[in-house]
Amino acid sequence: MGATTDIGTDRALAPAPTATSGIVTRFAPSPTGYLHLGGARTALFNWLFARHHGGKFLLRIEDTDRARSTQPAIDAILSGLTWLGIDWDGDAVFQFARADRHAEVAHQMVASGHAYRCYMTQDEIAAQRAEAQAAKKPLRIRSPWRDADPASVPADQPFVVRLKAPREGATTIQDRVQGSVTVQNAELDDLILLRSDGTPTYMLAVVVDDHDMGVTHVIRGDDHLNNAFRQLPIYTANGWPEPVYAHIPLIHGTDGAKLSKRHGAVGIEAYRDELGILPEAFDNYLLRLGWGHDDDEIISRTQATEWFDLDGVGKSPSRFDIKKLENLNGHYIRAADDARLAQLVAAIGGYRDEDLLTRAMPVLKARAANLNELSAGAAFLFAARPLDMDPSALDLLSGDAAQLLATLHASLDAVQQWDQETTEAAVRQVAESQGVKLGQVAQPLRAALTGRKTSPGIFDVLALLGKEESLGRIADKMAV
Ligand code: GLU
Repeated sequence: MGATTDIGTDRALAPAPTATSGIVTRFAPSPTGYLHLGGARTALFNWLFARHHGGKFLLRIEDTDRARSTQPAIDAILSGLTWLGIDWDGDAVFQFARADRHAEVAHQMVASGHAYRCYMTQDEIAAQRAEAQAAKKPLRIRSPWRDADPASVPADQPFVVRLKAPREGATTIQDRVQGSVTVQNAELDDLILLRSDGTPTYMLAVVVDDHDMGVTHVIRGDDHLNNAFRQLPIYTANGWPEPVYAHIPLIHGTDGAKLSKRHGAVGIEAYRDELGILPEAFDNYLLRLGWGHDDDEIISRTQATEWFDLDGVGKSPSRFDIKKLENLNGHYIRAADDARLAQLVAAIGGYRDEDLLTRAMPVLKARAANLNELSAGAAFLFAARPLDMDPSALDLLSGDAAQLLATLHASLDAVQQWDQETTEAAVRQVAESQGVKLGQVAQPLRAALTGRKTSPGIFDVLALLGKEESLGRIADKMAV
C-alpha cells in the first residue's frame, strides 16, 4: 500500500512493518519543562508522517529523570498537543514505569556477551579523564572489565553495566534528512546501560521502548543525531531491526542563534494565552518551519496530511519569525467560525454577550492579527456609559463636534427600522444639510460611539450597538 511506495528511495533501510500500515512514529518528550516550539514541531512532523502513511503515532513521556520531571510539565505537554490537534494512538507510555523491562534487556545483553559489568572505581575513571584532558582528546572510557575473565569479577562490589560498543570499522546512518552520516566506531565509548543502583540509563530506555513500541521511524531534533550512533549498537546487540532516522535541523531565532527564551516565548502555551494565536495558525507555522511544498504558505491540516513527507524537510536550520506567525494568524482568524471566535474572545475580554460578539465578528475580525487585538477591538461593544475616551479620540470631539452630534442625534432618533442602510441614510443626510463631507460627521460619531479613533465601519457600529445604546452614547457627548 501507500506506505511502502511513497516514501522514496530509502525504503530499503526500513525495518519490517509491525503495524498494519507499517509506519509507527512517536513523540518522546522529557517532561522537564513546558512543551516548546521545537518539541511541538517534532510532534507535528511525526503525527503528519504517520497520518500521511496511515500509520500510528505514539506518545511516550520520558520521565526517567525523576528529579527534573514534573506533573505540571506532563500536563502542559498533553494539553499543548491537544490544543494543536495532535492526537496519539493508544495510551501515552510512561518510560519510568518500564524500568524493569529496560533492566531485563541489559541483563540479557550481559548474558549474550553484548554488555558487561564494569567495576571501575571513580578514581580509575578520574584518571582516564585526566589523561584525555592532558592529551586534549574527548574522554572514551576504556574499561579493563570489557574483556575480563568472568571468573575474575569481584563479588559484592558495585558495578555498572556497559555496552560492548564496536571499536573497529565505522557506523553509517542513512538519515532521511541529513543524508549519509558516518562515524568511526573508535569514537564511540562503552556507554552505561545500567547504573550501579540498577536503574537504566536514558540511552538504553529509548532504544528498548522504541523497539517494544514497534517504532519504525525516529523523527526528532538533530541534537539527537550523535545519540543515534550510540543507540544503534543496542539494536544490533539485540538483533532488533533498526529504525529509519530523520533528524530535523533545530529552530533558530531571526538573529541566527539557536532559539532560546531570549527570543521571546518558547513554551507553546504562551502563544495561546499571551499572544492570542489560533492553533491552526500555529500548526501551519510550525509546518513551514523546516518543511516546504513549493511556495505554499497557507496549508490546511488536510492538505498537510496529504502532502507531508520527509523529502520536504530542509537540511538547514529554520528561523523563527513572529511576524510570519502573526500574518498566518490573521489569515486564520478571518477564516475562522464567528461563534468559535466569539467564545475565545469572550474568555479573553470577560465579555458576557457571546451572541453580540458573534454578530460583530465579521467586521471585528477583518483587521485583527491575534485574539488579543480582536478582544481589544470588541471592547467598545461592552463599554459602560458614559464612555471613557481614548486620549487620541478626544480631539475628534472638540470644536463644533458637540453641535454636530446633537444634529445627528435628532436625525437618527427619527430612524424607524434601525440597520446599516437606514442609519447610513440618516448620517449622510446630516452631512449634506451641514454642507460637510461624510468623514467630518463620521469621525466625531465614531469617537462618541466607541471612545476611539479607529473602529469598524461606523454604520456597522451603529447597527451592532442598536438604536437605544447608540443614541445614549451620542447624547453623552453632545451639546444640549
Ligand atoms: N526525550 C528526548 C527529548 O525530549 C527525545 C528523545 C528522542 O526523541 O529519542 O529531547
